[in-house]
Amino acid sequence: MDAGLKRELEEKVYAGERLTREDGVALYESDDLAWLGRLAHHKRTEMNGDRVMFNVNRHLNLTNVCSASCAYCSFQRKPGEKDAYTMRIEEAVRKAKEMEDEQLTELHIVNGLHPTLPWRYYPKVLRELKAALPNVKLKAFTATEVQWFEKISGLPADEILDELIDAGLESLTGGGAEIFDWEVRQHIVDHACHWEDWSRIHRLAHSKGLRTPSTMLYGHIEEPRHRVDHVLRLRELQDETGGFAVFIPLRYQHDFVDSADGKIRNRIQARTTMASPAESLKTFAVSRLLFDNVPHVKCFWVMHGLSVAQLSLNFGVDDLDGSVVEYKITHDADSYGTPNTMHREDLLNLIWDAGFRPVERNTRYEVVREYDAPVPLAERRAEPQQVWA
Ligand code: SF4
Repeated sequence: MDAGLKRELEEKVYAGERLTREDGVALYESDDLAWLGRLAHHKRTEMNGDRVMFNVNRHLNLTNVCSASCAYCSFQRKPGEKDAYTMRIEEAVRKAKEMEDEQLTELHIVNGLHPTLPWRYYPKVLRELKAALPNVKLKAFTATEVQWFEKISGLPADEILDELIDAGLESLTGGGAEIFDWEVRQHIVDHACHWEDWSRIHRLAHSKGLRTPSTMLYGHIEEPRHRVDHVLRLRELQDETGGFAVFIPLRYQHDFVDSADGKIRNRIQARTTMASPAESLKTFAVSRLLFDNVPHVKCFWVMHGLSVAQLSLNFGVDDLDGSVVEYKITHDADSYGTPNTMHREDLLNLIWDAGFRPVERNTRYEVVREYDAPVPLAERRAEPQQVWA
C-alpha cells in the first residue's frame, strides 16, 4: 500500500470516519500487520477501554443429524450413520445438569436440521432446560434452524420466535451466516437460508428485543472482498436495528479424521488452505475497523487456538468465548491440540497475561463481575509463566 493511502486511512480511523468498501479491501491488501493492529487497537480501546469480556458457558448440540450437506461441515451425519445421535429431552436436560458448575450463565445450543424431529420438540427442550436451570440463559438456534422450523411447522418465524421466547430463549446464535456473497455461498452452503432469510430472521429477533450475535466463516475459498461485503451487509442491518451485540469471525477448519467412522466429510479442503494466524489477526483487525457500529468483536478461541486468541486482543478483539466443554462442531475437525475446556481461572489468566482487565458478562453483555487490572509482567517475573498452546 502506498504511503499516501496509508496516511489517508489512518486519518479516517483517528477521526472516527466510517470506512468504505474500497477502504476495507485496501486494508486487507496491506501486509503491515503491526500497523493494522495499531489502528484496530485504537478503535477497540475507544469503544471498550482495556476490558476483555468473557462468559462461562457450555455448548449443547441436541442432534448431529442434518438434512443439509454443507461442503465445509464435519459435524453433520445422515440418519442411520454410525455416530449419528439425537438426544431425547430428558437426556438433553441430564447433560445440561451435568455441566452446571462454576456458576454457569449460558447454554449455547445449535443443531443439525433433523429431517423428522417435530417442531414441538424444540420449545419443549427449552422449557425443560429452563425449569432445570432457571439461572442459565438459553442462547439457541441459528437463523437457519429458525427457517427450518418454519418449513417443518408451517408457522411463520414471527410465531416461532414468540413461542421460543416464551419457552425461555434469550438470544439466537449467530451461525448460518458463513459468507453471504452468492459467488462463494453457492459452493459451500447446502441449506436454504441465505442473506434474505438470515437477515429477515435476525431483524425480527431484534424487533422482539433480542440481541443477537453475527458471524462470518472465513479462510476457505472466499477472497477478502467477500469478507468486506459480508461485514458491510451486517453493518447496514445494524444501522437499522442496533440489535447485534457482537461480531464473531470464525476460522474455517479442515476435516481431520477423528470421527468414529473415519470418514472425511469436508468437500472443499482440496481447494483451499486454512487461514494462517497472521491472516486471522488481519481479519479481526479489519472487521473491527469496518464494523464500526457493533459494540464487540469476539474471538472464539476453540477455532483459533489460545495463542492467536491472546494476540487477537491487540487486533480489535474485546470478547472471548467462553469456558467451553465439548464443542463438537469444530472439534470434529480440529487436530491441533487446542483444549476443548477452559475454566474461569484459565480465561482470567489468559486475559491478565495479555495485559487486559477481565470482565465476566452474561448473554446480553451485561456485567456479571469486574476483575482487577493485570499485575504488570515486570512484577511477576519470578513466578513461572503459563505457556499457551
Ligand atoms: S453447517 Fe449446519 S446446516 Fe450445514 S450441514 Fe452442517 S449442521 Fe447441517
